[in-house]
Amino acid sequence: MNNIDRSGVVQLGHGDGGRLSRDLIADLFLAHLDTVPDADRLPDAATVSAGGAALAVTTDSFVVSPLFFPGGDIGKLAVTGTLNDLAVAGAVPRCLTAAFILEEGFALADLQSIAASMAATARAAGVPVVAGDTKVVERGKADGCYINTTGIGELPPGRRLGFAAVRPGDAVVLSGSAGDHGMAVLVARLQIPLETPIPSDCAALHPMIAAALDHFGDGIRFLRDPTRGGLATACKEIALATGHDLLLREAAIPLAPLVRGGAEMLGLDPLYLASEGRFVAVCDPDLAADLVQFLGQWPETQGAACIGEVSQGSGELVLETLPGGRRRLDLLAGHMLPRIC
Ligand code: MG
Repeated sequence: MNNIDRSGVVQLGHGDGGRLSRDLIADLFLAHLDTVPDADRLPDAATVSAGGAALAVTTDSFVVSPLFFPGGDIGKLAVTGTLNDLAVAGAVPRCLTAAFILEEGFALADLQSIAASMAATARAAGVPVVAGDTKVVERGKADGCYINTTGIGELPPGRRLGFAAVRPGDAVVLSGSAGDHGMAVLVARLQIPLETPIPSDCAALHPMIAAALDHFGDGIRFLRDPTRGGLATACKEIALATGHDLLLREAAIPLAPLVRGGAEMLGLDPLYLASEGRFVAVCDPDLAADLVQFLGQWPETQGAACIGEVSQGSGELVLETLPGGRRRLDLLAGHMLPRIC
């Protein structure tokens, strides 16, 4: 536990999806629970075989604060977040479970809204919630409502998405503007008055991802949803796991003007702000322009752009900045961005 035991207690940073989260998983959890063959590479979903079929399994807990924000709420997020983890693993989502941890005194009207939002999102996605659980803790022992969802999906035979498929020369495509969700939640939490609210990008992406995988096949090498830790952390994870370098061009990264402005105002790097309705695709460079155009047919992915490429290297993430310089980017570390999802 060399990296995680300096303070001897859990810190907020252990949950931010960045450097400390990785250290906690690697040094503590995997030291005891290393039962999945590729667990150390931290895929979005685990693959298990059952009766000859390959299944993808993923689980995620949601503690976002505030519970309601422009463009979504904890219920919608709990469904889309898990659907997206299955989708970027190449799986077709089949069912979800939902577990609620509620605080004594939490308004039933709010719980009602959250349940309705979950149901509507799951129904629109065509994925049923098949099991659930509810626990209640005493007043002051939780913050209203926490939700855990687990998702099970089916992996079509022959689907070979993975770090191993990524090769130098590949292109990096982002499916839309970066950081909208993180900025939406921060603005809502800090109650910053804005004339136009910043909506979260929170959305289920499995239909677009399935269509893209059907259309482009092995031309799409790897997918990841840039959630906690944002685009930079997701790309650094790809660099670390593949051992190749990733070069991102700042000028090519789509950013909503309000996200750019909000990040400047709050002193945050938008490349580290979470998205909840975006994916990063590593693909054959000859297909990148076609993939961007293909994604243009859905509102959720019409802001897609080719933002960089993979090159031979040693697991570095390099940003070619607007003025033309080069800046090395690492996993999220040292920012205080708790409870974004
Ligand atoms: Mg993920």
